[in-house]
Amino acid sequence: MKDNAGSELKAKKPKQEGHIWGSMRRIAFILGSGLLLSVALWNSVMWHLQRFWGASGHFWQAQWERLLWNFEGKEWILFITGAALVPGLLFWAFNGLLLVVDTTGKPGCIARYRIQQGKNQPVDPVKLRQSIRTVLSNQYMISFPMVVFLYPFLKWWGDPCRRELPTFHWFLLELAIFTLIEEVLFYYSHRLLHHPTFYKRIHKKHHEWTAPIGVISLYAHPVEHVASNMLPAAVGPLLMGAHLSSITVWFSLALIITSISHCGYHLPFLPSPEFHDYHHLKFNQCYGVLGVLDHLHGTDTMFKQTKAYERHVLLLGFTPLSESIPDSPKMA
Ligand SMILES: [Zn+2]
Ligand SMILES: [Zn+2]
Repeated sequence: MKDNAGSELKAKKPKQEGHIWGSMRRIAFILGSGLLLSVALWNSVMWHLQRFWGASGHFWQAQWERLLWNFEGKEWILFITGAALVPGLLFWAFNGLLLVVDTTGKPGCIARYRIQQGKNQPVDPVKLRQSIRTVLSNQYMISFPMVVFLYPFLKWWGDPCRRELPTFHWFLLELAIFTLIEEVLFYYSHRLLHHPTFYKRIHKKHHEWTAPIGVISLYAHPVEHVASNMLPAAVGPLLMGAHLSSITVWFSLALIITSISHCGYHLPFLPSPEFHDYHHLKFNQCYGVLGVLDHLHGTDTMFKQTKAYERHVLLLGFTPLSESIPDSPKMA
């Protein structure tokens, strides 16, 4: 019996080793081919983008030189248009559309993507009017003068209206750096604003909206608007001595993304707003933009146990995530 069992064990061992070796090879094959596939995909995407940029790069360079020629000696007009007016107009165009849904609940095909069901249906008009007044005052009294003030610094550091447009690769690298700098500065300034001393006097205003809407992204106390909205976005371009074209794209992107993260609708093919929506709902979770620092500091542990976390993905279909991942009956 004993001998039999011993020989069985001996027979099993090489089989088991073979099995482990086999699965390791399978995993290595899957990982290797996955890596190869993503590198190939990335290379081909970059190739197409670069080809597009190469073809249109000369076109944009020629347009930019024409603008420079027309505004020779008055480059500050170009700077204010690119760094303040274009991003500001895009902000209001995008939020204007969202406000139609917030105030009328129509069209239903957009309203059905609402994250916090039953909230802002419709939005309180008095509260909305008062908030829009604050947003406009933040834009005209703070953002605009800050952009004007930024110009001489940028000009001294590396002229933002220089003749040469940045290359496509440099432009992508700049965007990545601006995003990382914003994440760090926004996360820590935002956490500081949640300290009881600052919260009551400053940040409470932004949190009056527990179910946020797009325009609320800039509804804040002036101190918060400077420290937590403007500086995290402006420090990157300032440090890098960015070109006006990069600044225009970055400020526009930053404003559209913050509007999406506050809009209250988890729309298809747009970045998920669940993270910051949850911050407005619960106050002490999800302080950052990307969520990297929340993961490191453990300020997203509660969020990770919720349905909102399961829904925090890029929606690639048309079924609202509140339907495909419904709240558990107890929560509902
Ligand atoms: Zn917010
Ligand atoms: Zn907050």
